[in-house]
Amino acid sequence: MKTNFLKLFLAIIVVSGTQVSWAKVSVSSKDAGFDRFKNRLVNQFWKMYPEWASSQGFHKYDSVLVIPTAARREKEVHFCETYLDSLTAFPINDLSPANRIDYYLIENQLKSGIWSVQELKSWQWDPSGYNVSGTFADMLSNNYAGLDERIHNFYRRMAEIPAYYEAAKQNIRNPSAEHTKLAIEQNLGGLSVFEKDLEDALKKSHIEAENKAKVTSRAKAAVAAIRDYAEWLKSLDNKHPRSFRLGKDLYDKKFAFDLQSGFTAAEIYQKAIVRKEELHDDMYRLTCLLWPKYFQNQTMPRSNLVAIKMMIDKLSRKHANRDSFESSIRKQLPQLEKFIKAKNLLYIDPKKPLVVRREPDYMAGVAGASISAPGPYDKKGNTYYNVGSLSGWSDDKAESYLREYNKYVLQILNIHEAIPGHYTQLVYANQSPSIIKSILGSSAMIEGWAVYGERMMLEAGYDPDMNANPTESSPEMWLMYDKWHLRSVCNTILDYSVHTKNMSRSEAMNLLIDQAFQEKTEAEGKWRRVSVTQVQLCCYFTGYTEIYALRSKIQKNLGVNFDLRRFHEQFLSYGSAPVKYIRQLMLADPKNQKHERQFKMIEH
Ligand code: ZN
Ligand code: ZN
Repeated sequence: MKTNFLKLFLAIIVVSGTQVSWAKVSVSSKDAGFDRFKNRLVNQFWKMYPEWASSQGFHKYDSVLVIPTAARREKEVHFCETYLDSLTAFPINDLSPANRIDYYLIENQLKSGIWSVQELKSWQWDPSGYNVSGTFADMLSNNYAGLDERIHNFYRRMAEIPAYYEAAKQNIRNPSAEHTKLAIEQNLGGLSVFEKDLEDALKKSHIEAENKAKVTSRAKAAVAAIRDYAEWLKSLDNKHPRSFRLGKDLYDKKFAFDLQSGFTAAEIYQKAIVRKEELHDDMYRLTCLLWPKYFQNQTMPRSNLVAIKMMIDKLSRKHANRDSFESSIRKQLPQLEKFIKAKNLLYIDPKKPLVVRREPDYMAGVAGASISAPGPYDKKGNTYYNVGSLSGWSDDKAESYLREYNKYVLQILNIHEAIPGHYTQLVYANQSPSIIKSILGSSAMIEGWAVYGERMMLEAGYDPDMNANPTESSPEMWLMYDKWHLRSVCNTILDYSVHTKNMSRSEAMNLLIDQAFQEKTEAEGKWRRVSVTQVQLCCYFTGYTEIYALRSKIQKNLGVNFDLRRFHEQFLSYGSAPVKYIRQLMLADPKNQKHERQFKMIEH
C-alpha cells in the first residue's frame, strides 16, 4: 500500500510538473534574456563566418573573404571560447524546451569549432578545404540583389584571393593524396566562374566599360592564384602523406559533434550490420515469393544474393520512359498526399503547396530530384521540387537511370524528397521558427525523418498500383524498398569500416556491389565519396534508427492508445533538432508515458 501510494504521488508530481504546452508557454524573463543572447550571437557568428552567412541568404558580408591564417584560427577559437563562456551564464533548466535545444545546438557548434581547429586539423591535411569558387558562383547565379550590386561585391571579395591561397600553402602539411587530387580537380573546375560566368554576367550588367576592365583584370589575378595553387599541389614533395582514413579516435569525436546522436558510432555500426542481415533475409523471402510470377520455368540460382539480384533486375525494367519521367513525378505527389490523409498519418498544410519545376540550368546534370527550400532569411520564398530532365542524355545513360529510378523506386524517392519526407518536415520546421535550428539543424534528424518516412509509408500500405483503399504494399514494392534502404545501411557500414577498420577498396566493392546490389559506377562513386568525407554518409541510417527506436518506445508505453498521427505531429513540432533532444522532451511528456496513475487506481 505504502509504495503504491508513493508511486501514485510521484506520478501526479510528474504529471503536473511537466505539463508544459510547447507552443503556448509564455516567455519567461530567462527566456527573453536567452533570446537576446541568441540574436547577438547570430550577428557575430555571421561576421565570423561570412561565407556561411551568404549561403544562408544573409548577404551583409558578401564582399569579405576570410584569409585562413594561423591568426584567423586563433581568433576563431577565441570567439568560440568567449561565447561558450557566456552560454554558461544561462541556467539551462529554467529555459523553455525550445530554448534548451537551442542551447545544446549552440554549445555543440562552439565546441566543435574549437575541436576542428585544435584536433581535427583538416586545415593541415585537406587541401580541398581551400576553394573559393562556390560562394562566387552563388553571387552570380543567385538573384538576391541587383546584378550590378552583386558584381560589385564579387569584385571586392576577389581582392583577397591571392592572399587566401598563399595562406593555404602555409597551412598544408603532409596532405592525403585523395584530398590533394580532389583539391586540384575542384579548384581547376571552379575557374570557369571567374572566366566564362563572370564575363557573361558583365555583358548583362550596366557597369561602365572602365569598371568592367577593372573587374576583368582582378579576375585574371584570381585565376592566376588558383592555377598556381593547383600547380603547387601537383608538384608538392609529399613523402609521408596522411592517410585519408580518419582513424577511430577522431572519427568517434566527429561522429558525436556532427550527428549529436544518442548512440555512439560503434553502436550505430553494429545496428547497421544487424539491419543488413535482416534486409537480406527479407529480400530472399520476397524473391522466393515472387519467383514463380516472374521466372516461371527457371530454377532459382543457389546463391541467395544472386537470386535477389536477378529479381531486382527484372522488376527494374518497369519504369517511366524518358518523356514521361517528369509528369509521372508530378502525378504522384497528390497521390501521396491523398494516401496520408486517408490513413490519417499526419496533417499536411494545404496552404503551402510544393512547386514542381524542371531543374534550373545551374543545377543541370545532377538529375534525380531535390528540394530547394528558402533559407531562414527568405521565409516567403517558394519551396521547389526540382526534377532532373533527361534531355541530351544518350539512350544508354537514360535507360540505366530510368531502371535505377524504376516504377517502385520513384515512389520511394518522392516519399523521401517530398511527401511526407523533406518537404513536409520543412513545412513543420518553419512553424517553430528558430534561427538557431535553421542554421544548426541536425542533418541526422532531417535525413533520418525522410528515411523513416519511407518505411512508415510502406507499413501503412502505400503501393504504386494502389486501388481506392490500399491495405498492403505489394511484395514487389517491399523488395525494392529493401534494396533502397540497404543503401543507407551500407553507407553507414562503409563509412565506419573505411575510417576506423581499414576496409580496403575491394572489400568496399564487395559490400556495395554484391551485398547491396549497386551498379559498378555507383559503387565507385561511393568509394570516391568515402575517401574524401567522413561521418556524413552515416546521417541517414543514424537518424532513422533513433526515430524508429523512439517510436517503438512510445508505442510500447501506450499500447493500444498509441496514435501514429499524434506521434508524427509532435515529433515534427520541435523543428530540425537532434533526435536525442526530441526524445528527452517527448518522453517527459505525460501523454507519452505509461498510465501509471490509472493503473494504480485499478490496483487499489
Ligand atoms: Zn527500359
Ligand atoms: Zn534526403
